Amino acid sequence: MSKTIVWFRKDLRLHDHPALVEAAAHGEVLPVFILPKVRHAASDWWLHHSLLEIIQRFEDQQIQFIIREGQPVEQLMKLIEESGADQLTFNELYDPESREIERELAKACEKQRVQVRSFQGTLLVAPDVIFNKTNQPYKVFTPFWKRLRQEPIAAPFATPELIPSTVKYYSLSSGEWGLLSANRWYDKLMNHWQPGEVAAMERWETFRDSGLYDYLVGRDLPAQASVSRLSPYLAWGNVSVRSLWHGAIAAADDVGDQQVEAFIRQLAWRDFDNYQLLYFPEMITKPVRPEFEKFPWQPADSRLEVWKTGHTGYPLVDAGMRELWETGYMHNRVRMVVASFLIKHLLIDWREGMAWFEETLVDLDIANNAMGWQWVAGSGFDASPYFRVFNPILQAKKFDEDAQYIKKWLPELTDMPVKFVFEPAEAPDDVLKAAGVTIGTTYPAPMVDHQAARARALAAYDTCKNT
Ligand code: FAD
Repeated sequence: MSKTIVWFRKDLRLHDHPALVEAAAHGEVLPVFILPKVRHAASDWWLHHSLLEIIQRFEDQQIQFIIREGQPVEQLMKLIEESGADQLTFNELYDPESREIERELAKACEKQRVQVRSFQGTLLVAPDVIFNKTNQPYKVFTPFWKRLRQEPIAAPFATPELIPSTVKYYSLSSGEWGLLSANRWYDKLMNHWQPGEVAAMERWETFRDSGLYDYLVGRDLPAQASVSRLSPYLAWGNVSVRSLWHGAIAAADDVGDQQVEAFIRQLAWRDFDNYQLLYFPEMITKPVRPEFEKFPWQPADSRLEVWKTGHTGYPLVDAGMRELWETGYMHNRVRMVVASFLIKHLLIDWREGMAWFEETLVDLDIANNAMGWQWVAGSGFDASPYFRVFNPILQAKKFDEDAQYIKKWLPELTDMPVKFVFEPAEAPDDVLKAAGVTIGTTYPAPMVDHQAARARALAAYDTCKNT
């Protein structure tokens, strides 16, 4: 009987998995995952639990899900030899390293006369079908979005029937994966998340029946449960973006077209970021706009640590950084504010912040992360202009007006009246005393003055913008 190896990567699910569907139609299926060599603590924790789930789901159908480590092409060719598989399938990825591996794999399979077939199963639309009028890749989101909106988005595939198999191959046990970092800080992530495909579906349904009704406005309010929090599920492919797209459109009669349009537009940002990564692969390491290469960054000294641990003296920034440390997630509005603070108030290189997010985000997606940081820095193609320096106090007053989010993550400010909570250091002594706050002891004074930092940031930008 024909046997197909299905190489799983960022698609740890059984639904809408074109590579699995093709394999199942062909005969026996041999699913395999090769452990990544680079470690990212929170995202690895998510991976660990997603793997445990998918192993179990295949086992329930009497199919072994194999885990290996090492160079992917070498490992896959070895497995082809061991199993006698005559076909290999996978869903494509668009980062430079994955693409290089895919090319090498195609060559190796051709040499061994093994058929290799790849599919678009990660994005809404394959990135090589959308170009502008001059046949160039889009650099700006809005025209990309208008173009994408005209494309038919493929309907998701159902989970295929699989043929059970009793043959067993070598596979690493979970204790050998090395995905759980030694300090176990991520243990608390368990209190906030349930990784895997089954939980992804539950989260989607909860969001569809609640948050989606208020997404258009609510998505900017970090204290509200109006965003989906599906990003970590999308990052490891526990859920397919096409099924979310079609699920949202099907809900339009109930929740309203505007809410749905706003949500699917955000899904398209994820497509756009990955699309940009395909055409501008250097965006994960350097500024897309070359003038920013000369930006006079200051050294990432102890101030970086103050930012990471959420002790800047700006409550919205600190609340965001503490949310990240506690949960491996931060609301999008707050991500923009904390990133702006690091880049513009502290003049610390955005790559330092990006690296901290890589370590701590459960939803780490290298395209979204790099694009998010370059957007805030002003160094991306479609970026917020550099001179737009977020005022962390006004942002808090506008998007967290009752300070619910701030108080949730900064328990030391719980008793501060809302009137003073956005600038605790400015509160009168009796207010501070009544709230049990001592500036410099229980909560820090602002580490930089906003107006002075803003002026310094703009002056720094002036030195590089015309070069
Ligand atoms: P929802 O509002 O429910 O949106 C649904 C989905 O749409 C998200 O899960 C995500 O896949 C996509 N999406 C939403 N907003 C954006 C956006 N601005 N850019 C790209 N895709 C978006 N997102 C990541 O998935 N991984 C990252 O590593 C990441 N790093 C970021 C770093 C910075 C500095 C910034 C400003 C943003 C970053 N984002 C990242 C984008 C965004 O913050 C998250 O996708 C979003 O907060 C996830 O929450 P959600 O699933 O509740 O979003």
